[in-house]
Parts: sequence; C-alpha cells; structure tokens
Amino acid sequence: MKKNIVFLSFVVLSKLGALWATPAVSLSQKPKTPSLQQETEADASVYVQAYPDHIKAYENHCLIWRDGTRMPIHRPGSLPSMNAIQQDFQKACDHPDLYGQIAVNYTAGPMHSGALKTDPGRIRDDAFFKKMYGDTQDKVKSKLTTLYWMPKFFQKKYPLQVTTINDVDKKLKRCSDQLEKLCEQKPQYIKFLEKPIRAFYWSAIAGTSRMSTHSYGMTIDINVEHSNYWLWDYQKENKVKNVQEKDIKWHKMPKYRNKIPQEIVDIFESQGFIWGGKWYTHYDTMHFEYRPELLVQRHGNTGKK
Ligand SMILES: [Zn+2]
Repeated sequence: MKKNIVFLSFVVLSKLGALWATPAVSLSQKPKTPSLQQETEADASVYVQAYPDHIKAYENHCLIWRDGTRMPIHRPGSLPSMNAIQQDFQKACDHPDLYGQIAVNYTAGPMHSGALKTDPGRIRDDAFFKKMYGDTQDKVKSKLTTLYWMPKFFQKKYPLQVTTINDVDKKLKRCSDQLEKLCEQKPQYIKFLEKPIRAFYWSAIAGTSRMSTHSYGMTIDINVEHSNYWLWDYQKENKVKNVQEKDIKWHKMPKYRNKIPQEIVDIFESQGFIWGGKWYTHYDTMHFEYRPELLVQRHGNTGKK
C-alpha cells in the first residue's frame, strides 16, 4: 500500500493550474466552475490502488470487494458526471456515490487557485466506509487501538483511539513521528499539534445527517484553538445556533481562514490523509482524514489526456 501511493502527477497539477488560473473566487455568488471536460473523468480503479486489502478489482462500473461484494460506482439519484457534480456540489454531498467521492480532484501540496472552488473529499459514500470500517459503533470499536500522539513532546497525555484497518494506526504513527521531527526544528509549530481533540468519535457531521469520518477511527482533529471551522465562524458572524448546512445560502458563507502551516499538511498528505483546510467553502483546518483514493494518481478512463 505505502509503495502504491503515487501522488498526483505534476501533469495534472499544471493542467488544472492552467484551467483554473482565474482570480480568487468571489463568494458573493455561487462560483461558476469552468468546464472540466478537458480533464479526464475520474477512474474508479484508484480504489483498487488505494485499498488493496479490501478492493480486488474494478469491472463493469462496479468495485469488487475481496469478499465478493459488488458495489456500483453510480447510484440512482446521484449526479452522473464530474461536470454535474461541480455544478451542484451540495446535491452531490447529499446524494453521494463512489463516483462522486473521487470526482473532484484533491491536489496534494500547497493550495492553488483550482482548489478554491470546491471541497475535494467532502463527497463521501457512507455505505463504502461502513463496509470497510464497521457499520455500527461496536464494530468500529472492535478494530481500534490506542496511539499516543507525539509522545516525545506530550508523553502519554494524548491517547488517540484509531482504527487498525488499512494500517491507519501505523500511518498516523508515522505522521506523529515526522511531526515530532518537524517540531524539534520548529518548536513554534507545537501549539498547532497539542491537544488533538478527537480521533474516533461516532457521530454525524454537525448540521447534517451524514456520518462524520471520525466515526470510523481514521480521522483526527488537531488543536482546535489554532484552527478555523466554517460553521463556528458562520454561527458567530450571524449570531445563530443549530443551523442546517443545506439551509445556508452560498453568499453567506464565511470567508476562508487558515493558520495551519503547510509543512504540517504535507506530512499528513504523505501518509494518505487529506486536509479539511482544502475545503474552501466548508473549511475545517483541524481535520485530517485517511482518504488514499484521493491521493493515488488518477489515470482517467476516457483515454483523453
Ligand atoms: Zn474533524
């Protein structure tokens, strides 16, 4: 698995850079996404690369699990193409399928203008994650182990409950080791990484009925005190509580904010974790979740380059 992670190619990066080399998006209106027809449609074979312990093959628009289960990548009622998903991202989040889950390109490394118009990785098919990590709290719990977060700095102060599925515990341990090295050189970064508030936490995403990926034990939130979260900013700015995500008008979304240094993000991405700071509209800069299907190279199934 580790060897198989090949990060998004420079070709894709530069292609997107050219496509999206437009000024920063104005949030006064729903951003018009440029046509992405020149970009290759996402190829679901990334699931085979990303989850070799679980997914055996991709054939006839289905993922074939090692236990023989066939899961269609398109579901009735979900959006059929990358273009449609880009046009109605909220609908794609509310009616997810395995295609939508990988359709929006996540770019590793520093944010660029292309990343500013979508929330890459925020479309998730719960059925997929429940099958992989457990569809009940008890099933997820049976696969958890304790990982002490950055013990050189914090000893046993922060025990995290993390899944052993897909070796997520080992990958998060590598993040912890590398972040310790980073903080030895740059002690000013320690504040971002202390007091991680949660890894495993069975719950829905605030203001929605969709499962949070913290439910599966493969997601961690770092220090909330130095992070930014769009919903808290929205609630503060509008003096409201208990809002539903779907009821919030696009032009009312708070302005993007982030304080997390890129070097921290780079370490998580190198181990297969995507960062919520790349969700430009629904930023969640404390949040890192294990989503290797978004970090393996996209080949495209249309033959277009
Ligand atoms: Zn989180």
